[in-house]
Amino acid sequence: MLSLHGSGIGREIAIGTACLLPQESSNIPEYLIPKKHISDEVHRLRAAIAATRIQMIQIRQQITSDSPPEATGFIEAHLMMLDDPMLAQQPEDLVATHQINAEQAIARQSKSLIEVFEAMEDEYLRTKGDDIRQVVDRIQRNLMGIDHISNTDITSEFSDPIIVARDLAPADTLALKPRHIRGILTNLGGPISHSAILASGLGIPAVVGLHAATLYISHGDKIIVDGRTGDVIIAPDKNTLTAYRKLKKEILENARKLAALTKSPSVTLDGHRINLLANIDLPQDVRQALNVRAAGIGLFRTEFLYLNRQKMPTENDHFNAYMRVIRGLKKQPVIIRTMDLGADKQLDTGNESVVNPSLGLRGIRMSLGNPALFIPQLRAILRASAHGRIRMMIPMMSSLDELQQVLNLIKKTRKELREENIPFNPKMPIGGMIEVPAAAISADLFAPHLDFFSIGTNDLIQYALAIDRVDDEVSYLYDPLHPSVLRLIEMTVRAADKADIPVTLCGEMAGDPNLIEVLLGLGLRQLSMDTASLLEAKSVIRRINVSEAKKKTRRLLSGKHS
Ligand code: PEP
Ligand code: MG
Repeated sequence: MLSLHGSGIGREIAIGTACLLPQESSNIPEYLIPKKHISDEVHRLRAAIAATRIQMIQIRQQITSDSPPEATGFIEAHLMMLDDPMLAQQPEDLVATHQINAEQAIARQSKSLIEVFEAMEDEYLRTKGDDIRQVVDRIQRNLMGIDHISNTDITSEFSDPIIVARDLAPADTLALKPRHIRGILTNLGGPISHSAILASGLGIPAVVGLHAATLYISHGDKIIVDGRTGDVIIAPDKNTLTAYRKLKKEILENARKLAALTKSPSVTLDGHRINLLANIDLPQDVRQALNVRAAGIGLFRTEFLYLNRQKMPTENDHFNAYMRVIRGLKKQPVIIRTMDLGADKQLDTGNESVVNPSLGLRGIRMSLGNPALFIPQLRAILRASAHGRIRMMIPMMSSLDELQQVLNLIKKTRKELREENIPFNPKMPIGGMIEVPAAAISADLFAPHLDFFSIGTNDLIQYALAIDRVDDEVSYLYDPLHPSVLRLIEMTVRAADKADIPVTLCGEMAGDPNLIEVLLGLGLRQLSMDTASLLEAKSVIRRINVSEAKKKTRRLLSGKHS
């Protein structure tokens, strides 16, 4: 028995037999082309690229309506690469000038292109290197007459295949789909690689980025794939196998029960309707949120636009991201949180000498100090508000002065947009996050200036209990049921109710099945959480009696254990 670990995809476990796919064409022949045969060699290269194009068009035509929505886009991106002079022209030039064979020319060209992408800091751009590798692999196979992964018949050998490959191109993953794949393991790829996105869309448990899966796993090995944790167990012993089979059954049964709740209302036993919203980190997360019928997006974290990149996002980068979310939604509202950089979401500025990041320049403090970063975001949010139900939210509020500065900046930005004749929704609601104890304690003073509150318990707990959320050594002190935390939440809910503005809770607490009863007891009626927790939260809510919850919560507020 041996175990490996990578990035897990999906929420299921697969048990099956390893099916090693034919390796990438790694033995690239190298020989000199006599001058008089150069044009034949160039034709051979062109013919291989043309064959690749035809194969990919065929695969695109076979995409069915139940395929993941990204599928067509991925194939189209690969088709476009075939027309790019970097692949279509430059290898031809290499054949002509260096008199090398087509396989070598395309290999050398792709190597230098991949190196450029792999040196990039942005994780998304690094995946472009994978795209080149995958397209080039198909061209090479056509040049060398090697069979394609998508032509490999795997079901005839195993009834429960777990695909093991160095990498899987979208075209290969799609072609494998109808063949009842149990799981996918790849050496390459990260959680946002195309193979990961497609596996997740196809509902196939996968682990990517395993580095050496193809080395340690042999064709025919019994394999356990845990998509939730990223663990892979090779040749499990009997006890491990029995334990995982049991776990797999429980997960499936639980998922089935939860799925049956998708359309059921989120109402407590005594008739209180609880609004369940989703937290998202990327525009594409909207799809999963809608799959579980979230009532909207309660927290769209926008830090992804700034992190892991050298150039800061432009107003249009922001606008396009927000439009993607609006288009993905079906008229449900979205709360866009302005950038919450600093602390655990540091910008890559090379200036890592901040004394105490979580108490330093972060969230709205950072935004106000960096108008060149903040104004493009404000303008983009306002512009997008003309196209959908957008609300804007300010993170890390701690002083009324600061809030006033933000509101003035919004006013000024609106004026500028009006002068430029750019449409926006003048009534776009503006809310604030209550995640610093100072804001919770004086929530009644903040409320008259805002349209809604959202309680960020991840930070509220860290600041109330003086435990840095990124410091493992104090994580044992993390206690969401600490009376001080509950009192701060209660104060915020009361202030919101008094000012007649809505209040949501969007920290991890919202999706914790063991804490939801207390939150309802504290008066919360809107919870925003990780999409994966939403159906479970609904099933818990449907078993809660709010009057009972209030009694339990009273006891906790006074320091008694429920
Ligand atoms: C929070 O602090 O609870 C929150 C939701 O925001 P983040 O986790 O992004 O800081
Ligand atoms: Mg926070």
